Amino acid sequence: MTKLPLQQPDVNLSPASQAPPRFQVYTQRNLDQIQQLQCLSEELRFDIRVVAQVLPFRVNQYVIDELIAWEDVPNDPIFRLVFPQREMLDPAHFSQIADLLRANAEQSVLKHAAAEIHRELNPHPAGQTTQNVPRIGNEYLEGAQHKYRETLLFFPSQGQTCHSYCSFCFRWPQFVQNEAFRISSREVATLHEYLQSHTEVTDLLVTGGDPMVMSSARLGEYLRPLTAPAFAHLQTIRIGTKSLTFWPHRFVTDKDADDVLRLFDELVKAGKHLALMAHFEHGREMENDLVHKAVRRIRDTGAIIRTQAPVLRHINDDPVVWASMWQRQVEMGMIPYYMFVERDTGARRYFELPLKRAWEIYQQAIQRVSGLGRTARGPSMSANPGKVELQGVAHVRGERVFVLRFIQARNPEWVQQPFFAKYDPQATWLDQLRPAFGEEKFFFEA
Ligand SMILES: *Cc1c(COP(=O)(O)O)cnc(C)c1O
Ligand code: SF4
Repeated sequence: MTKLPLQQPDVNLSPASQAPPRFQVYTQRNLDQIQQLQCLSEELRFDIRVVAQVLPFRVNQYVIDELIAWEDVPNDPIFRLVFPQREMLDPAHFSQIADLLRANAEQSVLKHAAAEIHRELNPHPAGQTTQNVPRIGNEYLEGAQHKYRETLLFFPSQGQTCHSYCSFCFRWPQFVQNEAFRISSREVATLHEYLQSHTEVTDLLVTGGDPMVMSSARLGEYLRPLTAPAFAHLQTIRIGTKSLTFWPHRFVTDKDADDVLRLFDELVKAGKHLALMAHFEHGREMENDLVHKAVRRIRDTGAIIRTQAPVLRHINDDPVVWASMWQRQVEMGMIPYYMFVERDTGARRYFELPLKRAWEIYQQAIQRVSGLGRTARGPSMSANPGKVELQGVAHVRGERVFVLRFIQARNPEWVQQPFFAKYDPQATWLDQLRPAFGEEKFFFEA
């Protein structure tokens, strides 16, 4: 393989960050070792411990040292993004676990109680495990979803974890120790077989967890073969990742950082459109030098970086946060792509916002950025029938309505057809909306 003249990681590394990367990971098991937590009240620490029994929690030293502003804790957005918060659980569930902890209950008892609560948190929204699983003959292609004709969603089994966990993460069932919940794939070969025989698939979306937790060698096993002529129909490869926030070292100082970039370069040279779908919830995640360096190195390969995030109460429910985030992304050469609506699963009770509020945030944020920042789609719900964007609130003949459209749909004919729902200032998800104008059903329910 010819070595590429990769841009050297010439960031101003402070002496501390020149030391080997400290990839110490904390979970509910070693919570006590997080030095900074000792400064928090005992009550707050107990809350964290309780919620962590139910919702997966994981954080690394980089997030603790570089991203969280501890002087602003507990209100710091990055703290809230990764540390469990009391209000994430229903008060009854919270007390149940709290009582067990106070009584020094056995691990097995705690696990059992947590598993019961999991079942009430809608672990599989939008028919993930039943409706979208593709097949080769009679065999299910595990770890994949083929919901939209041209796009295959693939979850490599080795990518079913993350550098740190977001507290809003809807992949939480994959992260809790419950095998039955897990969507994963062991087979590189079946993926390739499926793609080869499905020439309607133009887009492969590799997601997780975070596929960038994989070594470059492993990632290459999945992706490198796709440069062969048999996959000419596959034009686009997307990789969903939050590594630019949680571990930008992945592209700069990691042992195989250069190998990852070479893989990207090969895919681009082979004519693939390679897009990193980077998750950023807050501008604070883009301040570190290392992130800037990582973005430049990725872009030097010819890969595109598009950005997406859910709009979340307590974290980014402010148009100013979004506007400055998008503006910053444009400056850095990234393309704002999606604003998502918090899904109807997991810790939704802490994060969810009325759809109406999500739309106001979007509109006010978009008004503050230039055209190049207006590429982000409005608040979108990844719901069972498809991805539905709330386009706005309108008055039609005296009735106040939500204007909606499918960005993606199970049935390609639904895409881009506007439809209307009764205005509902409290609704937080598609299934709470009713058709406007006295209609019985939405057109896609017929
Ligand atoms: C969002 C999503 C995609 C990608 O949709 P685009 O509109 O192409 O970005 C693909 N599959 C599933 C299941 C999704 O939720
Ligand atoms: S980065 Fe993505 S996969 Fe990782 S915890 Fe956050 S939402 Fe989940």
